[in-house]
Amino acid sequence: MNNTEQPKAIVVIFGATGDLANRKLYPSLYKLFNKDKLSKDFAVVGVARRPLSSEEFRQNVKDSINETLKKTQNLEEFSSHFYYHPFDVTNRSSYLELKDLLYELDHTYKTEGNRIFYLAMAPEFFGTIASQLKEEGLTNTDGYSRLVIEKPFGHDLPSAKQLNEQIRQAFTEDQIYRIDHYLGKEMVQNIEVIRFANAIFEPLWNNRFISNIQVTSSEVLGVEDRGRYYETSGAMRDMVQNHMLQMVSLLAMEPPIRLTTEEIRSEKIKVLRALRPIPEHDVKNFFVRGQYDAGEINDKPVPGYRNENSVDPQSNTETFVAGKLLIDNFRWAGVPFYIRTGKRMKVKSTKIVVQFKDIPMNLYMKKEEDKVQNPNLLVIHIQPDEGITLHLNAKKSGQNMQTTPVKLDFCNNCTDGFNTPEAYEKLIYDCLRGDATNFTHWDEVGLSWSFTDPISKVWEQQIETDFPNYHAGTMGPKASDELLEKDGYHWWPINDLEQ
Ligand code: NAP
Repeated sequence: MNNTEQPKAIVVIFGATGDLANRKLYPSLYKLFNKDKLSKDFAVVGVARRPLSSEEFRQNVKDSINETLKKTQNLEEFSSHFYYHPFDVTNRSSYLELKDLLYELDHTYKTEGNRIFYLAMAPEFFGTIASQLKEEGLTNTDGYSRLVIEKPFGHDLPSAKQLNEQIRQAFTEDQIYRIDHYLGKEMVQNIEVIRFANAIFEPLWNNRFISNIQVTSSEVLGVEDRGRYYETSGAMRDMVQNHMLQMVSLLAMEPPIRLTTEEIRSEKIKVLRALRPIPEHDVKNFFVRGQYDAGEINDKPVPGYRNENSVDPQSNTETFVAGKLLIDNFRWAGVPFYIRTGKRMKVKSTKIVVQFKDIPMNLYMKKEEDKVQNPNLLVIHIQPDEGITLHLNAKKSGQNMQTTPVKLDFCNNCTDGFNTPEAYEKLIYDCLRGDATNFTHWDEVGLSWSFTDPISKVWEQQIETDFPNYHAGTMGPKASDELLEKDGYHWWPINDLEQ
């Protein structure tokens, strides 16, 4: 399939009245519709418990799009494709009524039996819905049936396995689209292109020329109203097991022999297999955890994590993680990949910094104080700004042969930022077109849990007496800086605000 294709399908959204559906899914479908990427032969069926008519549902969809997007047009036409079917997903008999509705809509919209079942609901329902869809024959059509499943995919390896086995009884691996919305981000997708389409980077992309790689994903927000969920998750499960390890695997993978889903996934899987496991007794040497205290964000006081709604006042949950990852293969032996992610940090940013090794001899060092070299850095800005910056050294103007750092900037969202498609828009379109490249394969999910589980286990068994250990509005606990200092490195500032 190509990018101009207008797929025909019915999209069934379970959790149609929820936050994700309203904030992300409806606006994304609407953008696809307005860009002519959706055929006019499509329908959306919303499922949730609260009793709404299809008319009321359409109004909610229009409202959520108007709230999210600045300019709207064709909303009436778009929303006329939406239908609402209220039921409790644990109620088996209701699936038969949904099946009848889908047959009817198939006929009305000539969707050729193509169905996408999008599970935008709490994970405890994933297995039940998948089983019921199969048992009641909703997946038995002339077209395709695909299951889109949101994170979290399990809580640890055993629970993820159990969930996977359950959904695999109803859907084959190639029908399952596990969402990691980071994989839909423009600049995350760009990692592959920067690496494999530029002769100046790929030959240097190894332990001979790179000293370390740093991946930061920092948020300014706290847990907001998700305290209950976050207490069972923490930053390790919420961010590291999925988004952070996905970015590491894209940075570290070998060039695929072809740009097919199978080849790309297979290279990413090899990276996850080569991650050096952290034994329990070594966790403290490789990983740091943090929890935010009260502090100030944008000159306004904000509460500490333990004072947030639905959070245990003695909580042992981490809101910050920093770690050092080693990849045991020929390309990366000896190169640390540092990752850090957290809530209530100083700046909101997702960035990758590739630090190249120092040149063997500094010809331009005249005095002792010039010793501090400016290493070459390649910075990939993922969000909120999108782009690439290459840090080089050039001659300082004047008589002396002194160097000064210069930056070559490419800003993706400066030129066409407003048109950069949202991650969900791209991922929904990929799913409609049957392209699973930017979704996670079960092997990736399983290997990621295998890596993070021993660390989580140690942290759960040991109460962190230092918590809270960083103030809101900072870049995390001191131990995060020390993690790099002991290797002779430091975190590169995320932007000028942080310096
Ligand atoms: P949410 O706002 O709590 O929405 C849950 C939805 O499920 C509601 O539409 C609710 O509607 C419906 N529901 C609950 N129990 C039901 C039942 N027994 N039968 C039928 N419908 C039921 O949750 P969310 O934030 O949208 O998150 C949905 C999923 O996406 C979760 O897995 C979450 O982890 C994941 N996710 C969310 C975000 C986000 O930004 N929100 C980001 C990443 C991942 P009724 O009350 O009307 O039944």
